[in-house]
Amino acid sequence: MKIDMVCDDDIKPLQRQKVCVIGAGMAGLASARELRREGHDVTVLEQSGDVGGQWRYDPMTDGADPLGAAAAPVKVHGSMYASLRLISARETMGFTDFQFAPKDGRDVRRFPGHREVYLYLKDFCDAFGLMELVRLNTGVVRVALAPGPIPTRQWMVRSVDLGKSDGAEEVEEEFDAVVVANGHYSQPRLPSIVGMEVWRGRQVHSHSYRVPEPFRDEVVVVVGCGASGKDIAMEVRRVAKEVHLVAKSMEEVTQELAKVLSKYSASLHLQLHVERLCEDGRVVFGDGSSILADTIIYCTGFNYSFPFLDTEGAVTVDDNCVGPLFEHVFPPSLAPSLSFVGIPVKVFAPWFFEAQAKWVAQVLSGKRTLPPEEEMVRSVEEYYRAREAAGAPKNYTHDVSLFDTTALTTTHNLHDNRTIFMDEFVSKYCDFRSVEKWRYELLVSSLVNMFDNLETFRDEYQDSDSIRKGVEEWHLSAQRAQAAAAGPATTKEQSLGLLEQVE
Ligand SMILES: Cc1cc2nc3c(=O)[nH]c(=O)nc-3n(C[C@H](O)[C@H](O)[C@H](O)COP(=O)(O)OP(=O)(O)OC[C@H]3O[C@@H](n4cnc5c(N)ncnc54)[C@H](O)[C@@H]3O)c2cc1C
Repeated sequence: MKIDMVCDDDIKPLQRQKVCVIGAGMAGLASARELRREGHDVTVLEQSGDVGGQWRYDPMTDGADPLGAAAAPVKVHGSMYASLRLISARETMGFTDFQFAPKDGRDVRRFPGHREVYLYLKDFCDAFGLMELVRLNTGVVRVALAPGPIPTRQWMVRSVDLGKSDGAEEVEEEFDAVVVANGHYSQPRLPSIVGMEVWRGRQVHSHSYRVPEPFRDEVVVVVGCGASGKDIAMEVRRVAKEVHLVAKSMEEVTQELAKVLSKYSASLHLQLHVERLCEDGRVVFGDGSSILADTIIYCTGFNYSFPFLDTEGAVTVDDNCVGPLFEHVFPPSLAPSLSFVGIPVKVFAPWFFEAQAKWVAQVLSGKRTLPPEEEMVRSVEEYYRAREAAGAPKNYTHDVSLFDTTALTTTHNLHDNRTIFMDEFVSKYCDFRSVEKWRYELLVSSLVNMFDNLETFRDEYQDSDSIRKGVEEWHLSAQRAQAAAAGPATTKEQSLGLLEQVE
């Protein structure tokens, strides 16, 4: 049911829509706030008992299915391990008008632990009264279009109250629009290795890794050299008999990794590629060598998964490419009533999710318009073609950075693809200013530091003058906003709005 409303700064009647947001993680909360700010009637359905998504650390694991190989969705959403600290600096995170600034008595580090992000998201909910929009313990099981003529078709959202222990009934509700924000760090992505099904040891995906203790005195193979693979290998090494970290090729063995491998050469070994797994527990590597191992931990990433979504084939997931999605947000044939927030990876979160959400909210109200369907389809096809021509694998479709790591280690290359993508997006689709230069510089210098000092980059860094100046202003600005928010004269929302993006 669409209701006309009039916006203060626009005499055109805008449409107020009844919108369902699926998920109350960073992306869902950003969406809820922007949709309400635009005047929509918002309901957020969240399957767990709290907001925060991945940042709400869950000690439970998918213990019965540690590979997550059974049908989607996995039973436990969380994939964070207990020791996880951010790899992105807190100054590069945060909403435009609600910064992720250190708070007294909390984890004030630049790269804090996961709990600090969870607390920040809770603060965000409190500051903007978002909890009243969120229905917790409500799992969405089906989203499909109701029958009817195309432009006015409603979305039927079926959900179940998971708080009830005695098998609650499913409830079906109608919405004008649905924003999908269910995250994509839960459904394990597994390699296909000969012998996986007969290997006698324990096989676990990083999704089900929490602490190193269960691997004490074991021989452990960690497959995958991404951030989680390196973190987990270094952590497990402390208690295991030996750890074998498997890279796909020598290209993955960066300078920082080589340093760590040589420092811990007694217990941490590099292997290239797992060739096959044998029933007797042997793991055979690409060079023909083999070891007898107790456990394999696959740190091989995650799959996008929307098990509840029935679009009659309009949106599919093919090798981790969700599409077609115009600008990673709108499926052309179902736009604007269906949208996705939080799909791109390697963006500044939640700042970029906020930009996406603002765009969705304003398109739904009619303040902004989308190009015609054919034009959106053409744009998606061009994007696919450009990626293919650049040699980017399909499963990296939503990775908006294509870092040249050699360039990164030698220069402070401020304009990599991700910054270009984010700047273009915000300038085209919402009224955000570009991210300030010092923040990009901080992003790059943190990565360069990580390349040099994998073990210490989170605690030992040297800021350039421009970063130092930017950070100082950012701190001051955040303090002013906090003080204003605590003051009596204005409402919280107004006060927090005083905090403009820092130049
Ligand atoms: C190990 C790890 C380390 C990371 N480190 C960093 C980092 O250093 N910096 C960084 O910026 N990012 C990092 N990330 C990525 C981070 O998770 C994202 O930036 C961000 O949290 C994604 O938010 P989201 O809202 O899209 O998804 P999520 O946080 O996953 O939230 C999705 C929400 O949807 C809910 N949901 C799912 N399905 C349903 C359903 N059917 N019905 C109802 N609700 C549903 C879930 O319960 C969840 O609350 C990391 C991720 C992982 C796994």
